[in-house]
Amino acid sequence: MSNLKEVRGIGIKGLSLLKKLTINNIEDLLAHYPFRYVFLTKTNLQKATNDEIVVTDGTVETIPTINRFKGKMSRMVFRLNTNDLVVNVVIFNRAFMKSHLRIGKAVTVIGKYQPLKNTIIASEIRLTKLEDALTIEPVYHTTKGLSNKVLFNYINKALDNHLDELVEYIPLDIKNKYNFLSKKEAVKNIHQPSDVEVLKKAKIFLKYEELFLFMLKINYLKQTNRQTPSGLIRDINLAKVEGFINNLPFLLTFDQKRAINDILKDLAAKSRMNRLLQGDVGSGKTVVAFIAMYANYLGGYQSALMVPTEILALQHYQSFLTLFKNINIRAVLLTGSLKAREKKQIYEKIKNNQVDIIIGTHALIQEGLEFYNLGLVVTDEQHRFGVNQRANLKNKGVMPDILYMSATPIPRTYALTIYGDMDISNLKNKPSGRKEIITYLKSMSEIKAVLSLMWQELNKNHQIYVVAPLIEESDKLDLSNINFLKEKMTLAFGKKYTIDILHGKMDNKEKEQIMNLFIQNKINILISTTIIEVGIDVTNANMIVIFDADRFGLSTLHQLRGRVGRSDIQSYAILISNTDNERLKILTETNDGFKISEQDFILRGQGELFGLKQSGDMGFKAADLKKDFKILMQAKEDALNLLNNKEFDTNIEYKNLRESLMVLNNLD
Ligand code: ADP
Ligand code: MG
Repeated sequence: MSNLKEVRGIGIKGLSLLKKLTINNIEDLLAHYPFRYVFLTKTNLQKATNDEIVVTDGTVETIPTINRFKGKMSRMVFRLNTNDLVVNVVIFNRAFMKSHLRIGKAVTVIGKYQPLKNTIIASEIRLTKLEDALTIEPVYHTTKGLSNKVLFNYINKALDNHLDELVEYIPLDIKNKYNFLSKKEAVKNIHQPSDVEVLKKAKIFLKYEELFLFMLKINYLKQTNRQTPSGLIRDINLAKVEGFINNLPFLLTFDQKRAINDILKDLAAKSRMNRLLQGDVGSGKTVVAFIAMYANYLGGYQSALMVPTEILALQHYQSFLTLFKNINIRAVLLTGSLKAREKKQIYEKIKNNQVDIIIGTHALIQEGLEFYNLGLVVTDEQHRFGVNQRANLKNKGVMPDILYMSATPIPRTYALTIYGDMDISNLKNKPSGRKEIITYLKSMSEIKAVLSLMWQELNKNHQIYVVAPLIEESDKLDLSNINFLKEKMTLAFGKKYTIDILHGKMDNKEKEQIMNLFIQNKINILISTTIIEVGIDVTNANMIVIFDADRFGLSTLHQLRGRVGRSDIQSYAILISNTDNERLKILTETNDGFKISEQDFILRGQGELFGLKQSGDMGFKAADLKKDFKILMQAKEDALNLLNNKEFDTNIEYKNLRESLMVLNNLD
């Protein structure tokens, strides 16, 4: 496709604004679908009721008059002839429009109608008539500095000149079967629908296409996995594995043992392991992964553990060192924020087999990392990684075995579909001796009570996490928020206790320092953004206070809450929220991540499940896994049929689809 720069009207500034919306090419731009539409239907004023929002067009009948008040404010009034009526139109702070509103000018007015005063309090005046009885206007997610109108103009230009460049993936037989629009028609009509019918058809096609491509990829991976033996023949010294397990500071749970057995079998088998280890927060997945990595090491291969955040990488690295301190196994920490020189040194070591275990963020896979002999890849918090990344990892080593770990319990039918290419091990029971986390729901006006609960725990020498409120939906960081909380907390506790902050913008060293201080109990209250949501494990911290809890999905709150309750001390979660308490209540009633995720699923659809916040890699643009489950199942069936169709490998009709799959094989 052409470059985004070639779209008429998009300048340097436009490019950088679009980038903020992760629109980097024309395809992205055209796939930036409206999230809702404004339906403008001409209102019959005769029938409109008091305060109804009306849409009407007409001609300007009198020269607008303007009153100014309070300095910058203004109130403009004119009379509008709508054909059946002459009404007064009042609009605030639009004095600059006056010169356009000449007598006889055709305009459209949108606003609140007050029949008794024969007046419309307008929110908007447009300088054209309504074209049709119904106008459908797209509304887009946008960003500061980029108005909906400008964005729509960009999209229109792209539609005008580049629509033909879009790739048609869906083959003709499928299109005929469902009487689908073509891709081009669908994309055009999702942005510029002429009527409700065609909009509906456009939506269905785009959802189907997205889900079909997804299912095709998943099932293609599954098939190629089945067909490719790992080729890794390992001779694992099981006595040593057992020795390690016996020396752990705790007894493994039944489920942990069973999962380890599954994994050891996979590692020994010829076919490649492709396993998902599911377990609620705190169920002890990490140690299972470590044992898998140890077995792989004993079999003579390198292992990589990938995690979504640097803090988590650091923590896994440290607990690895602790658990393996008496064993001669070499581990390195590899994160994106290492200095170039350090990174290069580590890369050299990995390549020359001077390292057995590599723990790092996914920056690790994005660069030209060469392994000596990668035999096992573990990814923690797997729901953050999309299909492409799944494939990406697989192709890093020769044919490494893969273990995914996820704390997001997914309803079974969905799991089977989404993770259809994997085997699953479940950790259902938690390590014994754990107490249920007691969860309170409080409003801001009860903050005193919250502070006193905090005092109680601090006085017992326990530590506390405080999660600062989110700004907007984006996980963009608002430091003023954190700093404000720090001030408040210092005011309340500062004389006796140490309070510090942790956030995503800090560099690795700083994060490391803060985390270490917290682990050593030298920080009593740690204020942070949700960057602590995954994986962090400090057992002496037994309380978490979450501000603006209503901003989060239930599953995210459950994950956050999972930072505490990691030992036999009684733990507490305090959710502070002034609204939406009906929804949040379930958290005070159960600690069962599975129930909570089902509830979340019912309430919110896919967003919360597959990516924390909507930005997850699974994030579909048109489809919603819950609402569109039927389409998903249909797409799955069609994708499977196609993969099993002999023609698929040769027929020109399927060329684009074949190419979309080839990407999966050539990612490094
Ligand atoms: P998650 O499944 O959420 O990743 P972790 O692996 O972080 O959980 O484990 C949570 C805590 O439980 C850790 O401190 C870990 O050392 C501890 N743990 C793991 N397995 C057991 C066990 N069988 N008995 C007691 N504690 C355990
Ligand atoms: Mg974990």
